[in-house]
Formats: sequence, C-alpha cells, structure tokens
Amino acid sequence: MAVFITDTCINCGACIDECPVEAIVDEDENPVGEELHYVYPDKCVECVGHHDVPACATACPTEGCIVWSEVAQSPKHRDDITDEMRSSKTPVVED
Ligand code: SF4
Ligand code: SF4
Repeated sequence: MAVFITDTCINCGACIDECPVEAIVDEDENPVGEELHYVYPDKCVECVGHHDVPACATACPTEGCIVWSEVAQSPKHRDDITDEMRSSKTPVVED
C-alpha cells in the first residue's frame, strides 16, 4: 500500500522526482503539517510494476528514513513484505 517517511528525513528532495506515481510531496505541502516529505498512502504503489524496489528509498541518502507501512486501501503493494515488517516500520532499504 505504501511506504512511510520518518522523522529522520532531511528534506533533501531526492525522492520526489523518482516516484513514478507522484505520491510524494515536500515539507511545504505535507498535509499533516510536519516539516518532512510525505507519501500519500492512497497514491503510493510501492513501485510495483515500475521498479524492483521502491525508487524513493533507493534514492534516499539517509539510513532507513523510508520504511514499510501498513497495507491499506491502495492500488498495489508488495505481497512479499510481511505484516511484521510493516508494523515494526522496517526500513525499505538499509545501507
Ligand atoms: S515506493 Fe514508489 S510509488 Fe511509493 S512513494 Fe516511493 S517511489 Fe513513489
Ligand atoms: S530522499 Fe529521504 S531524506 Fe530526502 S526528502 Fe526524501 S525521504 Fe527525506
């Protein structure tokens, strides 16, 4: 359903242009008022059909800022990601 950007986001903007479905907005457009980039969960398709891994997380220069989030109403999600990985906010990419 979606990935989630955590408060370790440094607002570098590297993720926005990588998103194939324009699901990411910057801190100025964050709908919950946080000074962070934000992923709209109803738009994010976890890059299914576009990339092998979420492009935003690959582009992100931080360690583990973008994590798996719960499966909810959304077009697509990666079904190989377990509920536990989502509920524990496991980083999408660790480096
Ligand atoms: S996982 Fe893919 S579709 Fe979802 S926000 Fe990141 S780049 Fe966009
Ligand atoms: S690439 Fe990572 S640190 Fe940069 S704006 Fe996106 S989530 Fe934040």
